[in-house]
Amino acid sequence: MIDSKLVDEPARMAALERYDILNTPREPSFDRITDLVRSILGVPISTVSLVDADRQWFKAASGLAVGETPRDVAFCNHTIRDRQPMVVTDAQQDARFRDNPLVRGDPNIRSYAGIPLETPDGYNIGSLCAIDTVPRQFDPSQIAILRNLAALVVEQLELRRIAERDHLTGALTRRAFLNEMNRAIGLFQRHQRPASLLLLDIDHFKRINDSYGHPAGDQVIRGIAGLCTSLQRPSDSFGRLGGEEFGILLPETGEEDAARAAQRFCEAIAATEIPGSPPLRVTASFGVAELRHAWPTSDSWLAAADMALYEAKRSGRNRVSIARHKAHSAT
Ligand code: GH3
Ligand code: MG
Ligand code: MG
Repeated sequence: MIDSKLVDEPARMAALERYDILNTPREPSFDRITDLVRSILGVPISTVSLVDADRQWFKAASGLAVGETPRDVAFCNHTIRDRQPMVVTDAQQDARFRDNPLVRGDPNIRSYAGIPLETPDGYNIGSLCAIDTVPRQFDPSQIAILRNLAALVVEQLELRRIAERDHLTGALTRRAFLNEMNRAIGLFQRHQRPASLLLLDIDHFKRINDSYGHPAGDQVIRGIAGLCTSLQRPSDSFGRLGGEEFGILLPETGEEDAARAAQRFCEAIAATEIPGSPPLRVTASFGVAELRHAWPTSDSWLAAADMALYEAKRSGRNRVSIARHKAHSAT
């Protein structure tokens, strides 16, 4: 019987993308696992390799200097086609790998054991690999250890995914949103890529809770989150930063365009009736802050947007206010 999930590449890619992990920074919980593989199996190299459309990208790589390789030379590209571990005891004797540039040259792979990283819904998104530069056997107890560690990698991916999403709204959690802001700060500092932050807070929300009850309040929070998600661009990030306060991160966007976007969100919220009994209407206030060198951390950037949000509240609510900055600090 054909295992259809092993050949359904679009579904496999969708499963990988759900983890939102490609191109993210190193994380100790994955490094720890590859370090364990190296010390327990006595191999010089271990990787958590994720197989993207045309490359393998390493979430962790102990003993290896590169961050990715083309997919067509990846041993893991073979590993993910099976449910079983793939073991190569001598790559120079294996017709599939003899001429592989990773075998003929750096990092001079000679032996390999890879366990597919199988998602709970059955897609192989990559593998946990043990790699040596000399021929070797991997005995069953070592493969059993590798299998357990591969299961830990998948569990870690799952926990990471759960921790990133707010359960009421599906928006990014505060923590995950701050990570996105830090990514934008890195791009700004290294490559001068602009980014803007919109903060929004629902107006007079306490009245909703007081008049209609907490579940109705939750319904409004969910409705506003759903509306914002439908209005955002695919490259934007949307996060729930507090009870009824949200952030929208607009990459590659300067202050003027960000203010226009905020105005669009603001008008859409005011014009939307949130279904429920009774259906409710709310407005929201917005603070807009384009990333500046004067705000080099997520805290200072958030504080700038928060000041603008406060200004929008103070001057009447249901409006957009832009963070002030000294003209000469904005380079
Ligand atoms: P303002 O226009 O100044 O923002 O007025 P506000 O009433 O919205 O004031 P504030 O933002 O300080 O209050 C937010 C309220 O939201 C307080 C809290 O009881 C309520 N809240 C926070 N989290 C939740 C939640 O998850 N569900 C519900 N239903 N209410 C929440
Ligand atoms: Mg509020
Ligand atoms: Mg609030």
